[in-house]
Amino acid sequence: MIKQALISVSDKTGVLEFAKSLSAMGVNILSTGGTAKLLADNGVPVTEVADYTGFPEMLDGRVKTLHPKVHGGILARRDFPEHVAKLEEHSIPTIDMVVVNLYPFQATVAKAECSLEDAIENIDIGGPAMLRSAAKNHKDVVVICDPSDYGVVLAEMKGTDNAPGYVSYETRFNLAKKVYAHTAQYDGAITNYFSSLGPDRKHETRSAYPATLNVAFEKVQDMRYGENPHQSAAFYRDLAPVAGALANYRQLQGKELSFNNIADADAAWECVKSMGSTACVIIKHANPCGVALGATALDAYQRALKTDPTSAFGGIIAFNVGVDGAAATELAKLFVEVLIAPSFTAEARQIMSAKQNVRLLEIPLGDGVNAMDFKRVGGGLLVQSADSKNVLPSEVRVVSKLQPTQQQLADLMFAWRVAKYVKSNAIVFCGNNMTLGVGAGQMSRIDSARIASIKAQNAGLSLQGSAVASDAFFPFRDGLDVVVDAGATCVIHPGGSMRDQEVIDAADERGVVMLYTGTRHFRH
Ligand code: 5GP
Repeated sequence: MIKQALISVSDKTGVLEFAKSLSAMGVNILSTGGTAKLLADNGVPVTEVADYTGFPEMLDGRVKTLHPKVHGGILARRDFPEHVAKLEEHSIPTIDMVVVNLYPFQATVAKAECSLEDAIENIDIGGPAMLRSAAKNHKDVVVICDPSDYGVVLAEMKGTDNAPGYVSYETRFNLAKKVYAHTAQYDGAITNYFSSLGPDRKHETRSAYPATLNVAFEKVQDMRYGENPHQSAAFYRDLAPVAGALANYRQLQGKELSFNNIADADAAWECVKSMGSTACVIIKHANPCGVALGATALDAYQRALKTDPTSAFGGIIAFNVGVDGAAATELAKLFVEVLIAPSFTAEARQIMSAKQNVRLLEIPLGDGVNAMDFKRVGGGLLVQSADSKNVLPSEVRVVSKLQPTQQQLADLMFAWRVAKYVKSNAIVFCGNNMTLGVGAGQMSRIDSARIASIKAQNAGLSLQGSAVASDAFFPFRDGLDVVVDAGATCVIHPGGSMRDQEVIDAADERGVVMLYTGTRHFRH
């Protein structure tokens, strides 16, 4: 039975209503300065912790609740007679519920003008101590660190499943579990901040990569297996949601997503989101095997499929626009593992429901990027910023004697956007806003070029007058010769090779347009 609760919150969302309800149920409320004032001003009967302990809040709030009358009341084991006797001896009533959320440390250090002093003052001491005490004693104490849990707790206290005023053990355990995740993350953020400061300890010169890196993710789901059946796996998402990212997916139908489904779906979704207008991307083994813009979702799909219909079998398909009935009718004819779009019309869902194995994912569009990009290596972790650079037409430079036509420029920019999502070495032939041949993941650029043109030939697509993107520079003229022999008339690549002049001369000799982006998009 909850008789006494201690409420001390920085984020005061919902706390007034919650405290009112507790009070109405006869719970005695203890509270700290700011929280107590808010409650008292709004007519909730409340006792200040300072009055309760007989010790004033002191040292600018650094010491508010750090007192045996508080921690004894939380930590005493109700089933240990010695503990109960000790409380009686010292006139310490039990505290049966602790409602605390912490000083906003993360939000404070995220501000550009934050000083070390500000950061330090925003390290909560008493709050985590109470949370940890209450979570340790969750057998007898309800602990809440997240305002979104107020409702659940109230419902249980009012409900009929338990005696009135009680909260089930399961809920208390889950709340305690949440607290330890929360305080670990809080301490992790403090560690990250301190270990990101340089010798001058100035906020402005801190490193984006702390000496000790603490990251926190929450599990979305366990998986039956990993990349291969003998590997175990799970999927985690960032604790702070990334707008428009794959991890925000809602599965509308289909089997459970596998490890490889999620990896490929991410590649498809990131690629299709980068296309300026209505687009479709088909992915196999993390590489695009067809990308096209179109007048409609159906048009984009039909054009994307033309690039490599053989590989598209069992692929993952993403759209950056809603999928309607017309597109769904065509999509239903292909064996597809995963279908992704910002939305599906009722008709599209009805059509796809006949293909229950197809996993349908709805993801809201958004342009958030991961704060850090991770790659595991044996015994270590490589961390970098995400490759969020999108080269604009104004940033490219014509290096050939021949100038591009408007159409060539458009085709080259499209090819360049696709190449960013193709594993290196990447060579992408495009024309009229669709891919014509994709050469991916080869150890030499010339082989990627050969494979791309062979694939176009196999698909019966002409490369005459096509545009080519190469994710990194041509180290020799031979790669350029292969794509020009295949029919390309314009090429885009970063430039920057020792033999740049030799390659530019080759472009002029062959009479093709050549553009430099100055940006490389290796992808491994
Ligand atoms: P209030 O706005 O009620 O004055 O302060 C609420 C905040 O104080 C909460 O975020 C809580 O975690 C924090 N707090 C409670 N007790 C202590 C303490 O003894 N020391 C410090 N530094 N913070 C405390």
